[in-house]
Amino acid sequence: MNYSGWKNYHAHIDKGFLIPPYTYKDEPAPTRAKWTRDAKVLMTKSEIKLTASLALEKMHQYGTAYVRTHVDVDPLYELRAVEALLEVQQEWKDRMVIDLIAFNQEGFDRFPETEILLREAMSMGVNGVGGHTSMDKDGRKHIDTIMDIACEGDLDWIEFHTDETGRVDDFHLPYLAKVTTERELKNKVTAIHCCSLANVDDKQVMETIEAVAQSGMTVTTCPTAIATRSLTRVKELANAGVPIQLGSDNLRDYFNPLGSGNMLQYGQLLAYVSRFYEAEEIDQLIGWLNAEPENERVKQQLKELSLNLSYQGKTNTELLAEAPLPQLIEQSVK
Ligand SMILES: [Zn+2]
Repeated sequence: MNYSGWKNYHAHIDKGFLIPPYTYKDEPAPTRAKWTRDAKVLMTKSEIKLTASLALEKMHQYGTAYVRTHVDVDPLYELRAVEALLEVQQEWKDRMVIDLIAFNQEGFDRFPETEILLREAMSMGVNGVGGHTSMDKDGRKHIDTIMDIACEGDLDWIEFHTDETGRVDDFHLPYLAKVTTERELKNKVTAIHCCSLANVDDKQVMETIEAVAQSGMTVTTCPTAIATRSLTRVKELANAGVPIQLGSDNLRDYFNPLGSGNMLQYGQLLAYVSRFYEAEEIDQLIGWLNAEPENERVKQQLKELSLNLSYQGKTNTELLAEAPLPQLIEQSVK
């Protein structure tokens, strides 16, 4: 297999690698979410750039060629994180392709002004818009609002943290699939996490997976989520033809104090949790980490990057077992 650089389809590099005085403490999630909001109020644009660069250095070291990162947009960060990440995107353009998703992490209920800020972020040149279906009382309305905003522009990606809690009463994936089909958005739409799909009854599982497959949308799983809930049904989704992507999600922040940025480690974690043990399954998983998004702009940018990884003859099983450092072979064709 030709390894053209790993793809990290979901991260939050605008608020990772906590810089002093912020340090992780294992308090309940709502407390840590509050600490994150408090930090966001105070973090300057240059501090956001610093945390993002620390994450990217790690990802690059481990051979990541593409990162799709979600950038918080709300009255706490206002548009500072978008401004910071747009600069970071430019600064890194010869080493990595970085797509930015203006992201409503905190919900419209808590911060209705976010709607206006997301529109401003779109005009600044982000690559996508995203929301979080568990953050508002009415998850469907949240999806509709994000979709309406996104469809005002010509964005490449519309992404949702979907059913992140894993609760059966927090299950919006069927509605997201329905809306994606109705609006014919296909692979522009990505559902991230989809943890509740692991816990609903068999009939709902079957109907939902069929609807997701028919919609053409993509599912991104973030294996580190296993720390607090079940992962989604990756194998069943893949068997139904749903494209699967992997993401690091948070790195070294109030949600995850660990996180290496090494995509092979995230692949290894998924392999353990969902038993990708047979050679064909391991090849499939490595294939997902290697696969480019179905988007001509990104494909062209990756071609210009021309990154190849050398693992000195190791097999895919060895790569997933050891998650070794690659030798980076970069040949800029520009
Ligand atoms: Zn996330």
